[in-house]
Amino acid sequence: MSHRPTRVLVLNSGSSSVKYQLLDMRDSSRLAVGLVERIGEQTSRLKHTCLGSGDTREAVGPIADHDAALKAVAEELGRDGLGLDSPELAAIGHRVVHGGMFFTEPTVIDDAVLAEIERLIPVAPLHNPANLTGIRTAQALRPDLPQVAVFDTAFHTTMPESAARYAIDPRIADRYRIRRYGFHGTSHAYVSRATARLLGKTPEEVNVIVLHLGNGASASAVQGGRCVDTSMGLTPLEGLVMGTRSGDLDPAVIFHLARVGEMSMDEIDTLLNKRSGLFGLCGDNDMREIRRRIDEGDEEAELAFDIYIHRLKKYIGAYCAVLGRVDAVAFTAGVGENAAPVREAAVAGLEGLGLAVDPGLNAVRGDEPRLISPAGARVAVAVVPTDEELEIATQTYALVGTGSAPVGNNS
Ligand code: ADP
Repeated sequence: MSHRPTRVLVLNSGSSSVKYQLLDMRDSSRLAVGLVERIGEQTSRLKHTCLGSGDTREAVGPIADHDAALKAVAEELGRDGLGLDSPELAAIGHRVVHGGMFFTEPTVIDDAVLAEIERLIPVAPLHNPANLTGIRTAQALRPDLPQVAVFDTAFHTTMPESAARYAIDPRIADRYRIRRYGFHGTSHAYVSRATARLLGKTPEEVNVIVLHLGNGASASAVQGGRCVDTSMGLTPLEGLVMGTRSGDLDPAVIFHLARVGEMSMDEIDTLLNKRSGLFGLCGDNDMREIRRRIDEGDEEAELAFDIYIHRLKKYIGAYCAVLGRVDAVAFTAGVGENAAPVREAAVAGLEGLGLAVDPGLNAVRGDEPRLISPAGARVAVAVVPTDEELEIATQTYALVGTGSAPVGNNS
């Protein structure tokens, strides 16, 4: 072959879904995107879009497991001349949710890496098994190709012990690997760097609070390009009010539900992870629907919104204290990028901290990073669209595409 392969396939394997994107790293363009949902059910769905032709194909029917799902994806890519057997493919990048304390950087996958991801299953029982299945299936399809794991936790491994440890007996904590790992790290890394760029600075020069508000939600305090605190902990349950997760609560709520409510641990787990947050409070977890209900005078939706905002504000205040000096607050992900009322409410009354939003700028929609604070504001408030797939592809390609040494999170 006369030139290096430049394409990277990014795979995000969940328990019953696989999301994928094929990128060409010469210009970071997308060649194809898609997802397979409801794997293992009769009504699995594959949706595939080829960006070159603009064609979208959708198929519904049983897809038994991840192996079958990935083969179906490979077939769809093949129909567009983008098959997994293509010599243009440089690597496959996998999103891996839990990398523990061990994986601080994207890592080329070998047997030892697989074994370590497996060892972390007790702290990520839902995510890591699905990620492992995705990796093994991809390896079987292209055994010759480098596969890279990009960890959701990696960006947070720079947190000092004072932020990463819970105030419990360290011997017990260490025995069970209990500490604050944090998640959404790929997004926090990408957005904090993009925010620095928006300010015309390097990541090392700025302190940024990143608010990743999607269905899952987390905040992070990033000091000179390094994460010093984040709101998710041992699992993604801690921190902000989310679509279906409670976020912070008194741990004694769990004892109370077990002892007085006679609920099982699995029932409590489901309650707090799947039936709480905005959904638990008002029956809806989509911010668009909640805003629509508030506009119609729905008090339940309004209280859910107020609880969501109150928690968000507390974290903004806390991270101002953690960072000492804040240069920017960046909103990202589905809610952060689209819900102007959330951004407005989250900083309302925080003028004393140098935070304000210009209503006109806040109302503008767009796909590019943009400032929404008034001119001359002490702290920049920004909307910075996240792109986890591009970040995974970039980190993967940096590891394998150029044949150079691994790059750190701050590159
Ligand atoms: P995840 O990746 O965690 O599934 P996303 O970052 O895609 O989530 O965010 C999804 C959420 O974003 C939706 O549940 C919805 O609450 C919110 N959202 C998406 N679009 C809008 C919009 N136009 N206005 C308000 N909220 C939106």
